[in-house]
Amino acid sequence: KQVEPKKDEYVIASDTAFAPFEFQNAENEYEGIDVDLMERAAEMQNFNITFNHIGFSGAVQAVEGNQADGMIAGMTITDEREENFDFADPYFESGIQLAVEEGNEDITSYEDLEGTTVGAKVGTESADFLDEHEDEYGFNVKLYDDADQLYEAVRVDAIDALMDDYPVIGYAIAQGQELETPIDRETGGDYGFAVKKGQNPELLEMFNEALQEMERTGEYDQIVSSYVEDSD
Ligand code: GLN
Repeated sequence: KQVEPKKDEYVIASDTAFAPFEFQNAENEYEGIDVDLMERAAEMQNFNITFNHIGFSGAVQAVEGNQADGMIAGMTITDEREENFDFADPYFESGIQLAVEEGNEDITSYEDLEGTTVGAKVGTESADFLDEHEDEYGFNVKLYDDADQLYEAVRVDAIDALMDDYPVIGYAIAQGQELETPIDRETGGDYGFAVKKGQNPELLEMFNEALQEMERTGEYDQIVSSYVEDSD
């Protein structure tokens, strides 16, 4: 079904470094699962988009402040966010996980985090998880604006561990980053494309129509598997 766009162009906010969902390639162009899904949705439903890669919490603020029409940024659909956003159908099942430097034998459980510093990206599910558990396990939380700073902090031992979405940690490890994940991941939430609550309903509808079609034709699987190897 074709839906009629109501704007000449939709501004789509996204994260800066959240591989394999959005990241800059060697030519400094953004690519990734989110980028491909959104660009294909625009092609299939005949609407125009401009991507604005401004970071996760920046994207949340841009949509809330009407500086962007929607966001796709590996954003987990949560009850709390549903108060301010309308989400399209879920497109990826995820979850969060702790990562430490490869060879770190001191941290094998949350209890071992006592007295350590654990980092996450500001405004994320991981940041919420750490805030909720810092007293219970006795660690300090340090928040970073973007993933480059967060992962670098573990590398240079500025922090002892980081928390992030497991497919992003997995991708980093597959790319050769020296990290390991000693604790089972938290059972997770689904990612969804989001608009500000009550706004741009046609944009959600166009995204959903295109997503359904991409799932039906196998194009969705092709996009995902072009960035990640199948794992189970
Ligand atoms: N899925 C996580 C969240 O929604 C992280 C998203 C991100 O860092 N881009 O909070």
